[in-house]
Amino acid sequence: MFVPTEDRIRIITAIDHMQQEATRLLKTGKAIVLVPTMGYLHEGHLALMRKGRKHGDALIVSIFVNPTQFGPAEDLQTYPRDLDRDVSLAESVGVDVVFAPEAEAMYDKAHQTYVDLETLPLYLCGLSRPSHFRGVATVVAKLFNIVRPHVAVFGEKDYQQLVIIRRMVRDLNFDIRIIGVPIAREPDGLAMSSRNTYLSENERPSALSLLQALQQAQRSVAQGIRDAGQLIHEASELICSYPYTKIDYVTVCDPKALENVDRVEGPTLMALAVWVGKTRLIDNAILKPSED
Ligand code: AMP
Repeated sequence: MFVPTEDRIRIITAIDHMQQEATRLLKTGKAIVLVPTMGYLHEGHLALMRKGRKHGDALIVSIFVNPTQFGPAEDLQTYPRDLDRDVSLAESVGVDVVFAPEAEAMYDKAHQTYVDLETLPLYLCGLSRPSHFRGVATVVAKLFNIVRPHVAVFGEKDYQQLVIIRRMVRDLNFDIRIIGVPIAREPDGLAMSSRNTYLSENERPSALSLLQALQQAQRSVAQGIRDAGQLIHEASELICSYPYTKIDYVTVCDPKALENVDRVEGPTLMALAVWVGKTRLIDNAILKPSED
């Protein structure tokens, strides 16, 4: 079937081309939506794009494995990549532009400006990944300046990231609406992630312990348990009962400030990071005590 050129997805790699395209779109009154990703797309990413499609005229997806958010011992080199497959998946959900810059162009040799938040990166994933959120906030700020979106869409799977981006947008006065999208899961309940591809068949059942621990905590809260220590203990026991697991953290905290709480009195975040073999998985859920 013949597809007219202007209807087809475009791939832009040069930063100045992306900026020119953003200027052109803005001049014609188009509302730009940005979905930042590191690629190796799955249904979770596509859910963000479908949501984004509804909130603007031009849907731009960035695919960039951002080196500054990886620690020295992390998986930057081995992170899965497949741009051709990503482009066809993006096209299937109506993406207009894939922006896939080179790392050397995003961070030239003399780069020295970073976005650092004061307390939000000190909790949860920030404890074992001390420079991670500095890298995330910096790259997202750069993408906002390059793409100039009206709306940007992020997943609740990376809950701390979403809280940090919302804070950064307020603190730095980006005129951008941030939309959060619920966690997309595999049929067996595992939160979708590009890193799930690292899991072996033997490790897979252990990976399900994260959701099981969250569901157990939700049941306990529904039965009246309010003590955060007890909920954390129950979750940790469940996770450790599976082979290959090693807990990074199990936390019960305030969903906005991310500070630990002792008791579940209102909507409270339970967030988990667990190593399953060599794969670090995260998941989270809001625990809600009943009103009565
Ligand atoms: P990543 O490519 O892993 O950096 O993720 C890009 C965006 O997709 C982030 O906003 C993530 O929170 C979001 N995302 C990744 N996995 C999921 C998922 N299973 N459900 C919802 N959003 C997700």
